[in-house]
Amino acid sequence: MSEPAVATALLVDFDKADPADKSLLGGKGAGLAHMISMELDVPPGFTVTTHACREFMRTGDVPEDLWDQVAEGIRRLEDKVDRTYGGGPAPLLLSVRSGAIMSMPGMMDTVLNLGINNDLVKVVADWADDEHFAFDAYRRLMQMYSNVVLGLEMHPFERALAQAKADTGAKDDTELTATDLRTLVSVYEGIIRGQGAKIPEDPVEQLRSSIAAVFRSWNTPRAKTYRRINRIPDDLGTAANVQAMVFGDLGPTSGTGVCFTRDPSTGENAPFGDYLPQAQGEDVVAGIRNTLTLDDLARLHPERHVELLATMDRLEKSTHDMADIEFTIERDRLWILQTRAGKRTAAAAVRIATDMVDEGLISAEDAVLRVDPSQLEQLERPRLANRIDATPIVIGIGASPGAAQGAVSFDADRAVAMAAEGQDVILVSAETTPDDIHGMHASRGILTSQGGKTSHAAVVARGMGKPAVTAAAGLSVDEETATGHVGSLVIREGDEITIDGTTGRVYSGMLALIEPQQTPELERLLTWADEIRQIGVRANADTGEDAAKARAAGAEGIGLARTEHMFMGERLGIVQRVILADNDRERTSALRELSAQQIDDFEDLLAAMDGLPVVVRLLDPPLHEFLPDRFELQTEMVELARKGKPIEHLQHTAARVASYEEDNPMLGLRGVRLGLVVPELYEMQAKAAVAAVMRRLGAGGDPRLEIMIPLVSAVEELRRMRDMIHKVIDESDCPLHIPVGTMIELPRAALTAGEIAKVAEFFSFGTNDLTQMTYGLSRDDAEGSFLGMYLEDGILTSDPFQTIDLDGVGRLMRLAAEEGRAANPDLQLGVCGEHGGDPASIAFCREIGLDYVSCSPPRVHVARLAAAQAEIRRIRQST
Ligand code: PEP
Ligand code: MG
Repeated sequence: MSEPAVATALLVDFDKADPADKSLLGGKGAGLAHMISMELDVPPGFTVTTHACREFMRTGDVPEDLWDQVAEGIRRLEDKVDRTYGGGPAPLLLSVRSGAIMSMPGMMDTVLNLGINNDLVKVVADWADDEHFAFDAYRRLMQMYSNVVLGLEMHPFERALAQAKADTGAKDDTELTATDLRTLVSVYEGIIRGQGAKIPEDPVEQLRSSIAAVFRSWNTPRAKTYRRINRIPDDLGTAANVQAMVFGDLGPTSGTGVCFTRDPSTGENAPFGDYLPQAQGEDVVAGIRNTLTLDDLARLHPERHVELLATMDRLEKSTHDMADIEFTIERDRLWILQTRAGKRTAAAAVRIATDMVDEGLISAEDAVLRVDPSQLEQLERPRLANRIDATPIVIGIGASPGAAQGAVSFDADRAVAMAAEGQDVILVSAETTPDDIHGMHASRGILTSQGGKTSHAAVVARGMGKPAVTAAAGLSVDEETATGHVGSLVIREGDEITIDGTTGRVYSGMLALIEPQQTPELERLLTWADEIRQIGVRANADTGEDAAKARAAGAEGIGLARTEHMFMGERLGIVQRVILADNDRERTSALRELSAQQIDDFEDLLAAMDGLPVVVRLLDPPLHEFLPDRFELQTEMVELARKGKPIEHLQHTAARVASYEEDNPMLGLRGVRLGLVVPELYEMQAKAAVAAVMRRLGAGGDPRLEIMIPLVSAVEELRRMRDMIHKVIDESDCPLHIPVGTMIELPRAALTAGEIAKVAEFFSFGTNDLTQMTYGLSRDDAEGSFLGMYLEDGILTSDPFQTIDLDGVGRLMRLAAEEGRAANPDLQLGVCGEHGGDPASIAFCREIGLDYVSCSPPRVHVARLAAAQAEIRRIRQST
């Protein structure tokens, strides 16, 4: 029976640990404890806890008595397996594997085969009766230890291995003989010595330094990048699991593999996995050889295959989730090395969650909690048509579904640079490693010539929701010359390709893509979510077409129609005539034209959202944004003058344009200030909106218009605009009530919300501006320069433009919501900044009692699901 460990325990044996204590044991440690409690064949060992790691990070050294506890742990382990660490005749070798609380596949370090040195390698050879195995294990230890603990350059080791294969004609590592490997070990020794380093002979020292190295790997740049991308806190730390080695490379009846209880790409309820005969686990993930399938395993080891399937089934039923399992067959005996909840694509997550409800494994509420809402945006991505005329240049394994296209890059750093220049990039390489994480993040999709369904590229791409094709065996990649070859076809950096991660096909050029469709599984999941959530979901949309899409996605209205977007394109000329008019007559005529267009725009929106609220926001940006560029005008004038043509009219325009220039336009004549300074514009918009309502009523529709004023900071601004709008409504024959409200996007508005609420029927928090104005920084400038560094250095823990800053902006929102409601109990409250589609921000909006969130149409599904999750968590926390 397991007993609960104290939260400050430094070390816990797998068979004494409480599987539920994931925060102490890390995911891998908890999984091992769980499997041991199920009496599966798991090599024994112990977990050096996350608490020990946190202490290590805090003090720079391991806690005082950790090494004594490790020594005792090894003694208990030796007793269990009846072998000796650092001795014979039955030597025990150990692995040290990282295992954080939240899974970070491949991001942190692992050292295998600890406990070998120049003397012990012979003992291992005698014990296994296999010299090849012993020297291979030793050279693997040397390579991993040099990399992870000593931090040495890996290229010399890789070159030496490649040279050994070339010298002997071996196609892969398994074909090297014991003598070849013995020579390789000497070469490796020279490489290590040449770099001024040494692997300790003492196996206990090997183990200690490996545990410390695993702890240190929590803070490698790649691990930090991964945490930032996945919003994992930096202070959790990792556990280090010390486990007896079992060997998948102990002769022809051994092998190793990775399997999932369901297909992590599609969610289909069918076993899925890779198997590599005569290999150690790292070989599968590293993708160094192309793997076999589980069906091949059934052929090679029929009994072990049956046993594996039964274990997979038991694990899934016991965790009620799709399991990702690492296993090893050592001389025809099956060992399970680790299990965790498998990473999956959004489509798979949705299907698995709904299937498991049907199978009686989980409740609908659990299903709603199972899917990461942010992942749902993946399902909005386009894909390739089922039937296409183009011929693929190469076919690999569809490792992460969906289509991606862009310019080829053969290097992670180059991929980041190309993406920064605005290119869509496909990262192409032989295989990816955890050091490529930034390049994968910057790319649209990933293509590798090696690997398989569970190699690094496949797992990480699925986690990131990016299409990936792996094991494109006809492709060879030469990273040094940055070229790829498929037969006689040469692929160079910048060449455009399209990859289909669903079918594994790769095409030259940019193929046409088609829009995705909502699956019945997603519809079911979102229906459950709608039944649970208590906060409305609207969309930000400015055209009838977008509004219709948003409605189809489940939006319950429009929370923000930015009318300035209607002033762009071919309308720009008319808008410029309004702004630059020299007299009332010209301005009135241009306004009349604009008004006719606006009525159509509003009518389209109201029609698409018939019966649902549509919040039309009057003009917000500074007027100069609509005007011609003064420098372009000047160039034009120089050109005309050179040709001897008159330039007076342009001079006049340039002077008018100059009169609208401001030093700080973001803080200048914009929003409600425009409504007060240039009243004709707002009046025209109000009249057009009311006219559109009348037209919809005439057509038998059910228009629900609301009019919103941006950038209010003083109640008097809003009062005057409200009075103007009420006058417009009164002068029309409109029989409907049209609510007038304001955005709360300036700190002063939030602080005086009690006053403002007396003249507003609704507030909508404009958290984009509210964040900018509260921090006093411009989003565009910050994102382009120092914000990245702020996040990297931990000056800010999350991007305030993505997730509401609870301490500052959130505090203003809470105050405004409370004081607004106190002054006007009927006040409707919503949010329409980007944060309206961010799951953590949605939970906060629910907490402070907002009525709805409004987000961009592709995030409507995200918001529906996140709102339901927030509700379930609220209820579960309060009971
Ligand atoms: C906001 O400021 O949050 C907002 C929605 O307005 P915009 O992004 O148009 O400035
Ligand atoms: Mg704004």
